[in-house]
Amino acid sequence: MSSTKGQAKGHPKGLYLLFVTEMWERFSYYGMRALFMLYMIQALLLSKEESSQIYGSFTGLVYLTPLLGGYIADRYWGNRRSIFWGGMIMAIGQLFMFFSATFYDQHESIISLGSMVINLPQLLMFMGLFALIMGNGFFKPNISSMVGDLYDPTDKRKDSAFTIFYMGINLGATIAPLWCGLVGNTGNPADFKWGFLSASIGMVIGTTIFQIFKNKYLCTPSGEPIGLPKKKEAKEAANNEPLSPMRIATAIAGAVVLFLLFSINWGYFRGNGGIFDNADWIGSLIYSTLIVMPVFIITDKSLTKLERTRIYVIYIISFFVIFFWAAFEQAGASLTFFADEQTNRDILGWEMPAAYFQSFNAIFVVTLAPLFAALWSFLGRRGIEPSSPVKQAIGLLLLSLGYLIIAYGVDGVDVGTKVSMIWLTSLYLVHTCGELSLSPIGLSMVSKLSPARFGSLMMGVWFLSTACANKFAGVLSGYYPDGTVTKSFLGYHVENLHDFFMLFVFMSGAAAIVLFAISGLLKKMMHGIE
Ligand code: GLN
Repeated sequence: MSSTKGQAKGHPKGLYLLFVTEMWERFSYYGMRALFMLYMIQALLLSKEESSQIYGSFTGLVYLTPLLGGYIADRYWGNRRSIFWGGMIMAIGQLFMFFSATFYDQHESIISLGSMVINLPQLLMFMGLFALIMGNGFFKPNISSMVGDLYDPTDKRKDSAFTIFYMGINLGATIAPLWCGLVGNTGNPADFKWGFLSASIGMVIGTTIFQIFKNKYLCTPSGEPIGLPKKKEAKEAANNEPLSPMRIATAIAGAVVLFLLFSINWGYFRGNGGIFDNADWIGSLIYSTLIVMPVFIITDKSLTKLERTRIYVIYIISFFVIFFWAAFEQAGASLTFFADEQTNRDILGWEMPAAYFQSFNAIFVVTLAPLFAALWSFLGRRGIEPSSPVKQAIGLLLLSLGYLIIAYGVDGVDVGTKVSMIWLTSLYLVHTCGELSLSPIGLSMVSKLSPARFGSLMMGVWFLSTACANKFAGVLSGYYPDGTVTKSFLGYHVENLHDFFMLFVFMSGAAAIVLFAISGLLKKMMHGIE
């Protein structure tokens, strides 16, 4: 094996610093998320519908702001400063959640904002959510792009590095619901605050560790520090064109037009309802950004032909990935209904709570990630590692397979009858293998294909597909059969659970086949990057 410094076996220490930092950040994020829905329903007494809407908008928006955080880091702040401020803002956000939960029963302290009436705990909660959304925008794309910067651009260890990093994410995601659930979800609504306080403390620990060790460990293989803002001369050399006011104005105008088009109630023109009745403002914001931002980036004049072609690959794969997460994220929605209502959770006389299924995925990731990391390294050393698009197509195929298994398990089963938990467990196991083959590989691919000066912004584009998918997941989850009406999705009829799960088999299976078919072309467009 050619054992140059950049291609050495093992991984740089900086990877483990980013691993620990991200582990604490995800502890904070998933800890809060595990309590959030319950908090709104049990403590703030919001309806299931209202809470689901707020939850859906929150999980969508946290993945929209990485575009902003990525952009600001690439152009002005650098990764380190963005991670620090992102972490601090999130810690403050969690503190607001803590205060909201401290005053959770002050429903009568009403504040009127125009026609909107909210009470003190709600106001504090919305302030907290806003801070979490902004903070995550600064943190998430930057920590991810720094992982890639620890290596030489063509280093074969990147996929396995991102897989190890992904293990850190899921270590946080495994511990968080257990701890925050233990102290926050006790059955007494006054205890939610301890869960949010834990999330805040976790965020402070992560950011502090990062601050202490960043100078020591975060550098390139040749010892150059990474994540610092670019010096003026370097910026000029990097050909970062100043933004022309014309381009900005066109982008804003385009975004506004699309936003309105997505929000309009088309029935209004046939005399039904008001023009913006039932508008999904957050959804419209996400969908219009999904179109405008990629166009805005790709039309940047400073891009060379090669850079542009590689960015197209990121776009194409990000598009396929929307179908992956939309099906995968059923975990928090329809698959939780299924766990609750249709899965026999009896283990030797003990009934496992349905919510426990939520942590299966994270536990499987932590267990299987080292195997996948070793597998990519092993294949890489032998020169037979599949290309990124092929790995991602495999991920989609595994997702389809997971749904096929459960569709088989519920075939002929009526809505309301319980099936063995082996089906849901197998689904989560197969889905996790799919996730490991797609998600860390996607982060790695973005890091390899992005021009260095756009590294974090492109991570933001990658996360934009998650924002969009989270919204889409909510729509698809609405097709979960209730045993009474037949629902139809683009001409496909969903009458029972089998039909519902087959919808995802077809959706992710079709996406996998197309991605396999074009993987050769994508590989060519990557020009030597795998
Ligand atoms: N579970 C991963 C995380 O929390 C996946 C994120 C995503 O891209 N959907 O980082």
